[in-house]
Amino acid sequence: MSASQLSSASRLTSALPGKVVIPEDVRFDEARRAWNLAIDQRPAAVAFAESPQDVAAVVLLAREFGLGVAAQGTGHGAGPLGPLEDTILLKTERMRGVSIDPARRTARVEAGVTWLEVVEAAAQQGLAALPGSSPDVGVVGYTLAGGLSFLARKYGLAANHVRAIELVTADGSLVRADPENEPDLFWALRGGGGSFGVVTAIELELFPITQAYAGILWYPIERGPEVLHAWRELTQSDLPDELTTVGRFLNLPPIPEIPEPVRGKSFAIIEAYHLGDPVHADDLLAPLRTLGPLNDTITTVQMPALTQMHMDPERPVPAGGDGLMVDHLTTEALDAFVEVAGAHAQFPLTSIELRHLGGELRRKRPEHGALASLDADYAMGAVGMVSAPELEVPVRTQVEAVQAALAPSAARQMYLGFAETQQDAATFWTEQAYHRLRRIKTAVDPDDLIHSNHPIPPTSPPPRNGADALLPRAPRR
Ligand SMILES: Cc1cc2nc3c(=O)[nH]c(=O)nc-3n(C[C@H](O)[C@H](O)[C@H](O)COP(=O)(O)OP(=O)(O)OC[C@H]3O[C@@H](n4cnc5c(N)ncnc54)[C@H](O)[C@@H]3O)c2cc1C
Repeated sequence: MSASQLSSASRLTSALPGKVVIPEDVRFDEARRAWNLAIDQRPAAVAFAESPQDVAAVVLLAREFGLGVAAQGTGHGAGPLGPLEDTILLKTERMRGVSIDPARRTARVEAGVTWLEVVEAAAQQGLAALPGSSPDVGVVGYTLAGGLSFLARKYGLAANHVRAIELVTADGSLVRADPENEPDLFWALRGGGGSFGVVTAIELELFPITQAYAGILWYPIERGPEVLHAWRELTQSDLPDELTTVGRFLNLPPIPEIPEPVRGKSFAIIEAYHLGDPVHADDLLAPLRTLGPLNDTITTVQMPALTQMHMDPERPVPAGGDGLMVDHLTTEALDAFVEVAGAHAQFPLTSIELRHLGGELRRKRPEHGALASLDADYAMGAVGMVSAPELEVPVRTQVEAVQAALAPSAARQMYLGFAETQQDAATFWTEQAYHRLRRIKTAVDPDDLIHSNHPIPPTSPPPRNGADALLPRAPRR
């Protein structure tokens, strides 16, 4: 490091004592780690903000040094972030406040909070939120992406149930965006991703729900074809929005965290999540039960249990995966999917799922944000463990094979939250919404200081510092 870089680095660390870790620090490797351990993040520095004022200080320092800022809650979505050598990685994990307002049915959640914390706090007041499948995904990153929960056919995307968002914009200002203040920014943040500022807190709508009827039908993986075809028929019947199902292949690793009866084994499974009278769900699920599952765990559960039902890892893991959205799943497309993802897979991934969409997810409403709807019938997500570097290529190849099998039925739209590789940003939104997002990005961050895992470029982005990271620069504006 040159003398001037060293003095810039010490300016950073002295501006926020105890909250900035630079590459020369012995703690750097731990500080730069993402939830996805397969991602090797090498930022110019890591800042651990504890307040909106810390966030503003980091943004202003980054501007002074000509660096970018990438906010990170957990690093579940770190895969597509790209090189960070000219970027301060701003971790929000120390900002953990959650407060529930039972009268207004809202939760105010700080930037570093993960889903289980909100779900449990809400449940104590007889309320439920709209989390995804994982208890430790960050609430803010998930919601900015859209937020696809197992209640989404009934309630739509989580982003469209946000009441207000507090953030620090690229000029260091603290802003509250809601329907009355900064309406453009409020629109962009709801499903437009993390390109518009560093969110410090988010206010979510809660729902008076305490229980669901949910669980899993387990079948041997060899029965995948008949099980998945029966499931496809169910999803293409006239289903109420109250029922969401997932068709999935699971190859469970032989590790102690997995319960002994299923450890190291492979299954075709159907997950079911139902709100309302279990008798109605039982009627709808009867054709799947007739197939004689090995095990049937569908029962009435308290809402927090939904965050564990999908069996996502609850600690950092090295993962490689990606998604795809599917329209009109034909029998041929399902056959191709089963062939490549099921019992005969060349390289078994840990999980390959098709989540049923539709219902409220398809309904665009005037008050919705940038991601007004998901215009597809299913969302596919495939993931494998990259527990050694030599597994990266086979995992990626197999994920691509699953995507290729579904390509003839693929929707134009891709869901940002399931995109774990860099993709054409224009596919995440309608053309009109994408152009509006770019105009808003240009208005709030013309210098492209704020980096996101799925960036929206301003209309004419500036060149970056590259190798000169940590050299002070004249402010760009
Ligand atoms: C195991 C697993 C299960 C998942 N299940 C679901 C699911 O059921 N439904 C679903 O919709 N998605 C799901 N996802 C996808 C997940 O919602 C996205 O990856 C989401 O972006 C993760 O947010 P995070 O904060 O945890 O991750 P991070 O990697 O920390 O953040 C991802 C991006 O969000 C933005 N961001 C995060 N914090 C801030 C902030 N404070 N200010 C501004 N921008 C910010 C940034 O652009 C960042 O690059 C899952 C992912 C995994 C790995």
